[in-house]
Amino acid sequence: MLGSQHGALLNADPVMLIDGAWRPASDGATIDVTDPATGEVIARCPAATPSDVNVAVEAAHRTLHSAEWRQLGAEGRSTILWRWADLIEANAAELSYLEVRTNGMPGAFADWMINSSVAWLRHFAASALSIHGTNVSDSVSKGGDTYHAFSGKEPVGVCALVIPWNGPTGSFVLKTGPALAAGCTCVIKPAELTPVTAIRLGQLAQEAGLPNGALNIVTGYGTPTGSTLVRHPLVNKVSFTGSTETGRQIGSDAVRDLKRVTLELGGKSPCIVFDDADLETAIPAAAMAIYGNTGQVCFAGSRLFVQRASYDKVLAGIAEFTASLNVGSGLVPQNMIGPLISAKQRDRVLDYVASGLSDGGELVCGGSPLDGNGYFMQPTILANLGSSARAVREEIFGPVLVATPFDEFDEVIGYANDTDYGLGAGIFTRDLSKAHNAARSIRAGNVWVNCYGVLHPSLPFGGFGKSGLGREMGTEGIEAFLETKSTFMKLA
Ligand code: NAP
Ligand code: MG
Repeated sequence: MLGSQHGALLNADPVMLIDGAWRPASDGATIDVTDPATGEVIARCPAATPSDVNVAVEAAHRTLHSAEWRQLGAEGRSTILWRWADLIEANAAELSYLEVRTNGMPGAFADWMINSSVAWLRHFAASALSIHGTNVSDSVSKGGDTYHAFSGKEPVGVCALVIPWNGPTGSFVLKTGPALAAGCTCVIKPAELTPVTAIRLGQLAQEAGLPNGALNIVTGYGTPTGSTLVRHPLVNKVSFTGSTETGRQIGSDAVRDLKRVTLELGGKSPCIVFDDADLETAIPAAAMAIYGNTGQVCFAGSRLFVQRASYDKVLAGIAEFTASLNVGSGLVPQNMIGPLISAKQRDRVLDYVASGLSDGGELVCGGSPLDGNGYFMQPTILANLGSSARAVREEIFGPVLVATPFDEFDEVIGYANDTDYGLGAGIFTRDLSKAHNAARSIRAGNVWVNCYGVLHPSLPFGGFGKSGLGREMGTEGIEAFLETKSTFMKLA
């Protein structure tokens, strides 16, 4: 339920959370937050200075080594995370509203993301209770001495968490949830375009009883706020979600300093429809694989491959589905396509459409911006582009699908894998063996058969190749915030 009664935080003083206190930037600087559906400035957040970041990291470091944090233990952390999830659930309508106003996403997508975030956080709360090492069942014997030998897990330390604008609440929870469950403390930087839900999540974390300094939120630009944070010498681990370009920079800085690092980056995920697919399932699923959250999803199914005999039918079906999608403000429940996040992002997406057309692509539908002050554009399909076209190779991050026919199984696997990325893949077929063979042959971290974009907190999410390093969710997601220690105790 989306209503302006949930907008109080938009008018609040611009503050961020450092060491349990809500503070403006030390130099008072702020950043305007814009509603992408109207182009209006609707809120402000602090632009954290390097010295603000330093205070936040030092607070996280102090808390990590405090008796209060140690004594909380896994059970205490789990209880707080569970309470936090309950509070997010109780305030879901407000978070959804703020997400729609600041990101522009359709209300149904915002609701899905908030509900999913609650489930993910409960998973992390439960995971805190099952962190364990291994125990060598027979004491190790070496040179006549015997030892009791075991390994254990410890929090990796202070974590720098940097998130993008496309799924603010989801990204916030996917970073802070496992970090806190593992016993780490953290400083998170939301994207400068979408800081408001982060502030609300911070308030709710405090209400849940999280000790001061365990979760710090610094709002600001990539440089200097984000860059100071990830390079800070007291940071032990960096977890980043965003563009491959920024990820490469952050990753190389982290490796130089031997910090632990997880990167969730971009994608150019294929969606494959075989002749034998149930087209009534495949057509809407392949359409929403690209149009979900207005195409601003890292695992968007942005390359469609359809087997020749069904190509015209599937393309016409997706074009018809596209025409049925209302484009407009996410506050209106019927609108399934919202604005792009910014004027700059819309220009970038339209530039890809223009490049596709100049590379010889055919415009099946869409392709134009909408009149008005919001950053809307028509959902767009391009066909008949060669595999070297920029619109086929690069992540567009908007509602633009490129469609290509294929004849043979091996041919389409070749197309699917002809990418630097490897995040997601959709396969539509009724043939079980074909589904298994395709799922095994595609180099991607997440494969969906006869569906698209299903996530579960027990299953790791992440990418091959330039889609990133490491995984979120699943046991891997917690492991990424832990160090392993082996201990040998000599027995007298
Ligand atoms: P981005 O530059 O990768 O930003 C992601 C986050 O990193 C933001 O919080 C950003 O701050 C911060 N950041 C930027 N430079 C940094 C640095 N040197 N050190 C530390 N933090 C830094 O992404 P973007 O500029 O928002 O979007 C650019 C393109 O990236 C999009 O058009 C899209 O193609 C892609 N993208 C992909 C994903 C994904 O999930 N795969 C998500 C978002 C964007 P600011 O917000 O202040 O810049
Ligand atoms: Mg940026």
